[in-house]
Amino acid sequence: MSMSTTPFALICGDRSAFINGPEPAEVRIPLSGHGQKAVKKKAQVHTGMLVADHPGDKRGEAHSSICGVVAEVTPECVVITAQKPAEPAEGEEPAKTQADAIDLSSLEKDGLKAALKSLGIDLRVFLRRAELLIINGLNPDPGIRWAEALLENHKATLEKGLALLKVLSPAENIILAAHDAGISLAGASTRAVAPVYPNSVERLLAAAVTGSEQAKGVNVIGLHELYRLGCAAETGLPVTQTVMTVQDKNYLVKVGTTVQALLDHAGISVGEGDRVVLGGPLRGRSLSRLDIGIGKDDTALFVVPAGTYPPVSDTACINCGECILRCPARIRPNLLGRYSEFRMYDKCKDEYIDSCVECGLCSYWCVARRPVLQLIQLAKHQIVLQEQQVTACSLQGETK
Ligand code: SF4
Ligand code: SF4
Repeated sequence: MSMSTTPFALICGDRSAFINGPEPAEVRIPLSGHGQKAVKKKAQVHTGMLVADHPGDKRGEAHSSICGVVAEVTPECVVITAQKPAEPAEGEEPAKTQADAIDLSSLEKDGLKAALKSLGIDLRVFLRRAELLIINGLNPDPGIRWAEALLENHKATLEKGLALLKVLSPAENIILAAHDAGISLAGASTRAVAPVYPNSVERLLAAAVTGSEQAKGVNVIGLHELYRLGCAAETGLPVTQTVMTVQDKNYLVKVGTTVQALLDHAGISVGEGDRVVLGGPLRGRSLSRLDIGIGKDDTALFVVPAGTYPPVSDTACINCGECILRCPARIRPNLLGRYSEFRMYDKCKDEYIDSCVECGLCSYWCVARRPVLQLIQLAKHQIVLQEQQVTACSLQGETK
């Protein structure tokens, strides 16, 4: 993959402390494949209480981030209204306001995996087989600014996360990829990587650090994921918050806080025609409603004023080739977009869709303003579904 695409500067040097997000009157804890039977409507919940478990053995459970009462359980979220527990009657124990902590310090790998799952940690990224572990110390997208702020203000927490990571991962070599070789983290060596987008995209970061596009046995972990692990190590409590850049400041935000509540807290108003983007400007998604809850993996929120960019359209590709020139994976995004549009997913495989690193540069540069990245993501999703169906059919055939 070539690094010769037009660079976008990634923010460096913001070391300011994180601002606390709002104390929400309501949270909407997002569910993603979780069960819906852990809590029922009207149940009293406390901070860190399990509200939905996940059947996957590497996927974290979901917990309440506040004390309150369950208002609704839907396939998408658990809605909780903030409410202090009732005062105890004389002689009664006060109601619980916080989950019990788990001591992770002496656990062996299997026990640690189970404990972390119960604390809401998604283990998939930490358990990939790898000889080299790269910690992504660059801000993920242009505009996001929490990487150095985390390294400056929460270094001890990150280092505790790294100590746990060493129990989970067999990797012997751990490298922190940062914009400055002077940035350090105990337990890792530092490698300087130019702070330009798309160097922060996992596969491109691995290529930048190893010098090889074909490097095997490399795993890349986000700094926010390491921070989450470090918080679990430090407190033994479930994941109930996430780090976020909101416009030009960094916040610690309770999971389930609605986008609207976060924008209000940050003093940001949304005008007619403005776009609210959850995630980075290059890889994030525009929202059609503001009452959705912030998830554990959400790390940025931006309001793009009306008229900043021409609107995305469904006009035909004009074959100008601009996206091909910009693609760091050296594939043909224009063809992938068109094949996806016409549901020709086998053709997408022929055009090396697996090589797409989902950087979004093709969409950014598209002269016709086509949603090229979204079309490619749709095709990837459909291909996974098709392959799952083939596997299920062949398994059924085997059992006949
Ligand atoms: S998102 Fe577009 S530009 Fe980026 S790797 Fe994929 S096809 Fe290429
Ligand atoms: S930049 Fe847009 S219009 Fe031009 S070839 Fe690529 S997809 Fe087609």
